[in-house]
Amino acid sequence: MADKDIRLHERLRALAQNLWWTWHPEVIRLFTDLDPYLWRQVDHNPVAFLNQVSPDEVEKRASELVLHSRINYAFRRLNEYMTANNTWGFIHGGNLNHRPVVYFSAEFGIHESLPIYSGGLGVLSGDHLKSASDLGIPLIGIGLLYEQGYFNQYLNKDGWQEESYVGLEIEQSPLVALKDTEGKPLVVNVETRTGFLHARVWQLQVGRVPLFLLDSNIEENSEEDRQLTSRLYGGDNRLRIRQELVLGIGGARILQALKIHPGVLHLNEGHSAFAILEEIRRIMDYDQIPFHRAHRRVSLYSVFTTHTPVAAGHDRFSPDLMEEHLGIFREKLGLSHDDFMALGRISPNDNSEPFCMTVLALKSSQRTNGVSAIHGTVSRHMWRDLWPGRRESEVPIGHITNGVHVLSWLAPQMNQLYETRLGQDWATRMVHPDVWGRIAEIDDEELWETHQSLKMRLIQFVRRRLQLQSERLGHTDTIRQIDNILDPDVLTIGCARRLAAYKRGDLILSQPERFESLISDPQRPIQIIFAGKAHPRDDEGKRLLQRIAQYSYERRHIRRVVFVENYDYNVARHLVQGVDVWLNTPRRPLEACGTSGQKVVLNGVLNLSVLDGWWNEAFDGRNGFAIGHGAMHNDPEEQYRRDAEHLYETLEKIVIPLYYERNTGGISHKWVGRMKHAMQSLGWRFNADRMVKDYTGRFYLPAAIATSAET
Ligand SMILES: *Cc1c(COP(=O)(O)O)cnc(C)c1O
Repeated sequence: MADKDIRLHERLRALAQNLWWTWHPEVIRLFTDLDPYLWRQVDHNPVAFLNQVSPDEVEKRASELVLHSRINYAFRRLNEYMTANNTWGFIHGGNLNHRPVVYFSAEFGIHESLPIYSGGLGVLSGDHLKSASDLGIPLIGIGLLYEQGYFNQYLNKDGWQEESYVGLEIEQSPLVALKDTEGKPLVVNVETRTGFLHARVWQLQVGRVPLFLLDSNIEENSEEDRQLTSRLYGGDNRLRIRQELVLGIGGARILQALKIHPGVLHLNEGHSAFAILEEIRRIMDYDQIPFHRAHRRVSLYSVFTTHTPVAAGHDRFSPDLMEEHLGIFREKLGLSHDDFMALGRISPNDNSEPFCMTVLALKSSQRTNGVSAIHGTVSRHMWRDLWPGRRESEVPIGHITNGVHVLSWLAPQMNQLYETRLGQDWATRMVHPDVWGRIAEIDDEELWETHQSLKMRLIQFVRRRLQLQSERLGHTDTIRQIDNILDPDVLTIGCARRLAAYKRGDLILSQPERFESLISDPQRPIQIIFAGKAHPRDDEGKRLLQRIAQYSYERRHIRRVVFVENYDYNVARHLVQGVDVWLNTPRRPLEACGTSGQKVVLNGVLNLSVLDGWWNEAFDGRNGFAIGHGAMHNDPEEQYRRDAEHLYETLEKIVIPLYYERNTGGISHKWVGRMKHAMQSLGWRFNADRMVKDYTGRFYLPAAIATSAET
C-alpha cells in the first residue's frame, strides 16, 4: 500500500500502538481535538479511544477540524524516529548494536493508561526505557504484565484508604502477543519441584525500545498460578518467589526463544536476579564449562542497581521455598543445597540465613550501583560484610544518580517557552549545561505567567477530583465551596509520595497550631495539596494517610488543605507542573534518590526538601530550599522533632517572605530568579538522558566489551 493510501484512522492506530505518543503532546492533542470528552472517558487511552469511533467517523471529524496535515505530520515524525540511524546510541553503541542491553524490572511506569507500576521504581524504569529510546541505545525491557495492576485508591468517610482493582483489557491496550520464531504465540516455562509455571509474553513498543511482559494467566497453569502475575507486590513470600521465577528465569528464556544474545543484563532492583542463574545455566550448557566459570563470565556483563536502604525492601526467601522452587534448577547447575544457598547469603556457612535476592545480584554482577551519591555510601555500609577484607570505602558499589525523562514531565506550555528561547532542538542537547544557561534569557513575566497558567490548570484539576470525591463521601461543605478551594494567588505546596512511615508525609502537620497560623495568615497564607498511596498491608502508612485526610476534611481547612485520591502518573503530572513548592521530608538517609523533585525543576517549581537522596548533591544554597543541614540523630523521634522545627522556620523566615515579596506587576523577581537558577543548575544533570548515558559509558559499553572478549 502506498503511503498516501493509508487512511487517517490507520495512521492514528499506528500512533496509538507506539507509546512514543506519551511524550509527544502534539499527538495527544490530536485525540483531545477529535473528542475531548471521549479522551477523558477512556482515561487517556488512545487504543480504547479508537475502538469507540468508527474509521468513517474519524475521517469525518478530521475533515471538519482540518486535522489531516497534523495527523500526517505526526505519523511521519514517528516513522522518521523509528528509522533514524544517526542517533547517539547508533554512533556510540559499539557492540551493543549486535548484542543489546536487556533491562529487567518488576514494574514499568510509562503512562496512567497502563497500570503496571506502583510508584518510584516503576516510573524510573519507564523513564529509563524512554531515554534509551530517544538516545537510540539498543535496549530491551522485560517485566510482568499485571492484569489488575496496582490498586485504585479511595478514601472513606473516616479518611481510611480502601483499594479496588480494575482489570486491564488487552483489546483496549497496545499490547501485542509475542510470537516465537515459527510464528506461534510464545510461551515460556519454568520448572519447579511442584510443577511447571507457564507464561505467555506480550510486547509493548516504547519508541524504539521493545518491552516484553510475562503473563501467567493461561490455560496451562493451575487456577492459582493463573493469578500469579495479576497484581503488583500482593501476596506472601511464596507468591513472590513464583513471580520472581517468572520474571527472572521466564524473562531470560524469552531471549533464548527469540535468539537474542544479551550484551548486558541490567537488573533494576533484586526482583529479577534469578535471570542471572538462567544465564549461567545456558552458558554451562552451551560451552560445557563448570558453574564457577560460567558464573564469573556472566558477572562480567551483569549490571545491578539497588534502590532501597530500607532492610524490608530486599526480598529474602527461606531454604524450603528455595528448594521447592529452584531445586531442579540447582541440580542442573551442579550445586549442593548449601553451595546454592550460599549465593544468596552474606555468610555462606550460616544455615539460618535466608536467600537474599540483593546478595545474589551483588555477588554476580561486576558493576553495581546505588541511585544517588548518598545512597551509594549507605549501600556500601549496608553490604560491607559481603567484602570482609575491605574497608567500607572500597566496597565495590558505586552510584549513578537517577534522572527523569524530560519530555514526559515537562509541561507542553513550558516546552514552548524552551523551544523559543533554547532552540527548537534543545531537547536533543539537554545534557549540556550551556543549553540550560539560556533559561536566563526568558523574560521574568513570561515565565511567571506560564507558571501561573499551569497552576490554574492544576487547581481546576484538583477541584474536579475533589468534587467527585466529596459527592461520594457526602461532604456537602466541600461541594458548596468547590470554586473557592485553592487560590491561584496563594503560595501552593505539593506533597505527594508513597505514605510509608519513613517518608513522614505528615511532618508539616506535626505542630498543628503553627501550621494553622500559616494557612490562615490574612496577608501571606499558604495552601497545600497532598496525594499518595499506602501499601495495602501497611497499616502504619494508612494511619498516617488518615491523619492527613481527616485534617483536610475539617471545615476550617477545606479551602487550604486538600488530599487528592489515587496518586498516579496523571495526578503526578498535574502536581509537578502546577505547584509553587515541592515538599519532601523523608527521614535521612532513607530516601534512595527521589525523582519527583527532579520533575518539578523542569517546570520552574522549587524544592523544599530534607538533604537526602538526590537533593543532597543538588542543593547549592540558591536553587531551592533545604530543611536542616543534613544532620542525623539516632532517635527517629528526635530527628522528626528537629526536622519539623527546621521546616517551619524555613517556611516562615525564607520561603513565604520570598514568595510574597512582590514587585510592580505583582511578581516576585527574587522568586523567579530562584526558579531560573534551579532550572539552569539542575535541568541538565537530573534528567534520564544523562542517567542512561552514564549507564552506557560507565557500565554497558565496558560490560559489552568484556562479553565479546570472553566469547
Ligand atoms: C515520580 C513518581 C514517584 C516517585 O517519586 P518520589 O520522589 O520517589 O516519591 C512515585 N509515584 C509517581 C506516580 C510518580 O510519578
